[in-house]
Amino acid sequence: MFDLSGKTIWIAGHRGMVGGALVRRLQRDGHRVLTAGRDRVDLVRQAEVEAFVAAERPDVVIVAAARVGGIAANAARPVDFLHDNLLIEANIMRAAADAGVAKLLFLGSSCIYPRDAAQPMTEAALLTGPLEATNQWYAIAKIAGIKLAEAYRQQHGLDFISAMPTNLYGPGDNYDLESSHVIPALLRKAIEARDSGAATMTVWGSGTPLREFMHVDDLADALVFLLQNYSSPEHINVGTGQEVTIAEVARIICDTVGFTGELVFDRSRPDGTPRKLMDSSRLLAMGWRPQIGLREGLADAWRDFSENPTTRLSA
Ligand code: GDP
Repeated sequence: MFDLSGKTIWIAGHRGMVGGALVRRLQRDGHRVLTAGRDRVDLVRQAEVEAFVAAERPDVVIVAAARVGGIAANAARPVDFLHDNLLIEANIMRAAADAGVAKLLFLGSSCIYPRDAAQPMTEAALLTGPLEATNQWYAIAKIAGIKLAEAYRQQHGLDFISAMPTNLYGPGDNYDLESSHVIPALLRKAIEARDSGAATMTVWGSGTPLREFMHVDDLADALVFLLQNYSSPEHINVGTGQEVTIAEVARIICDTVGFTGELVFDRSRPDGTPRKLMDSSRLLAMGWRPQIGLREGLADAWRDFSENPTTRLSA
């Protein structure tokens, strides 16, 4: 077991949803958390990253920084998604290796797996088929990051590990209706429908696709668990193993915010893949379990959206 006590932990990407959850969690546990805004260190600039790590000497590094975005953003800016993500991960890993950090955790997402991977998706599905074309830029960069972490482990014997989270939601999410994922979009739509007294609320697609959702605080818990208990070249999936239909999620969201009107399914909008579930049996076999059920988690996300003025402003 890797002991985190007394260690300084650099969370690269602390302003994102995942980074923010990690800061909350590690500070609550009394750990020394190191963060730096872009004014201090621009992660695509190698010299800045190396100078920062050499000066601050973190013991542990978590790569939660990435250029992220939905279908439209990937299509409009493929260079940003491929180039920036490659540089961010390469710069951080090189600096961490040079400074002799004790442990590094690299984060990706389920879109690294082939478009037609068998469900649920196991870690072994990586590089077994073509990627989903719409997010291939981001996926290629993340696959390179997994392989780079593995290469540092193989060539230099460093304790670099990679974790691939399922679909996430929670405080700090993106609530922009055109670029967000389904949960923040439906939360916002349900609140607005309730407040305006609308009779209906629109859900994209048929409502039948199956998805797996994890509250970002559960992810932070799993990542702390992996830092302490996982040390292996292969990346590891982080999911709940539980699926729901989009229609079910929409209904829970309406209950949560108190919208009592009807759901209208807009079939002119795409369903996307019919089923997306990670196989997290390796993590679950290690004894980790998610703690936050979907109803409870959605209530928390709603509270964050209603109470947090900056979330509302950026929405
Ligand atoms: P995906 O998991 O990569 O497909 O990404 P999304 O979270 O954007 O979409 C998941 C599912 O939710 C898809 O079937 C969407 O059609 C459906 N969905 C229903 N309503 C919405 C909405 O308002 N916004 C988004 N983004 N998806 C929605």
